[in-house]
Amino acid sequence: MSPRERPNTMDNSENKPNVGEEVKSVDTYSVKCQSCGGTMIFDPVSQSLKCEHCGNTVDIIKDHDVKENDILDGFEKATKWDGDEQATYKCKNCGAVVVLNKDEHAALCPFCGTSHIVKGDAFKGLKPQVVIPFSVTESDAERFAKSWAKRRIFAPAKFKKSLNAENIHGVYEPCFTFDSRVEAYYEGRVGDRRTRTVGSGKNRRTETYIVYYRIHGVINKFIDDIYVATNANFPQAKMDKMQPFKAENACVYENKYLSGFMAESYQKDLKDSWEDAKKMIDKIIRAEIKSRHNYDVVDYINVSTTHSDVTYKYVLLPVYFLNYAYKRKSYEVCINGVTGKVAGKTPKSPLRVAIAAVFGLAAAIGIGILLYMLYKS
Ligand SMILES: [Zn+2]
Ligand SMILES: [Zn+2]
Repeated sequence: MSPRERPNTMDNSENKPNVGEEVKSVDTYSVKCQSCGGTMIFDPVSQSLKCEHCGNTVDIIKDHDVKENDILDGFEKATKWDGDEQATYKCKNCGAVVVLNKDEHAALCPFCGTSHIVKGDAFKGLKPQVVIPFSVTESDAERFAKSWAKRRIFAPAKFKKSLNAENIHGVYEPCFTFDSRVEAYYEGRVGDRRTRTVGSGKNRRTETYIVYYRIHGVINKFIDDIYVATNANFPQAKMDKMQPFKAENACVYENKYLSGFMAESYQKDLKDSWEDAKKMIDKIIRAEIKSRHNYDVVDYINVSTTHSDVTYKYVLLPVYFLNYAYKRKSYEVCINGVTGKVAGKTPKSPLRVAIAAVFGLAAAIGIGILLYMLYKS
């Protein structure tokens, strides 16, 4: 398996401090190793920066004082990602925009593997505010993915034996989280199912009917941390499968955490993401109305929601992307970079699926016969 494409900058003579040249003091932070000039990358085990070349480590003082940001400010703001310290690469094949620290180079797209990747302008837009640093190493992520794949009941035995990881990339995926104080007025018409006996003699039978009634009320609720995915490579369904990401590990964003990893920039902006968040909040409110009134059917329910004190955070989430090759096809598996939780696809053995279907059918028939016998006895 090939490691992530990140050429060792040691090969690049211009990155080595020349003899006699003033070495940068420690407080003006650099991702260069102070003792050998090698590249310092973020080490998930020690949670510090570690030199790839000589093993020298530099502690990171984590700032856990993560702040919520006013959404109206966010709509106006458009700052650059850490000025000139970061570089963006755009994949001409799949459209991914990858952000790296300036000393690092993307040779291959982490998502589609193509080398059609061009260096772009510094990324304009909101700068990440929060990062949940990787705490799972690349080799552990691979191990988790392997044991996960082995437990997949429908995956062919041959696939489980070979488990050929083509590549693995640690990528910080962008998302917005929203908080909102919600006041929701609702009114509607809902119904309960009832049964009654009608007819007489031979025509005596039970029928179901619905009794409708009106409901109304107000829900006051503080909605905390709605996570909205912002990127085609890491859509909502994928993110939801990876949750939770240990929000308690969140730190104020610094580019140090990105060293040795990649980051994607958001594709859906704050405004559109907030629209998505409102739809998710609406679902939460409707679920609460349902649990309050416990009806069987809905004719209609109108909900009028006002949001106040809306805040957002632009968060980078740690995810490993791994691809398994099997019969000339590629299967993507994602590993949560902080919990090790795995989700993804594996090939399916037609035989295993067929056997399961037969067993399922047999079970259904068995239950049918059992119920019939109970009914007759
Ligand atoms: Zn070093
Ligand atoms: Zn690509």
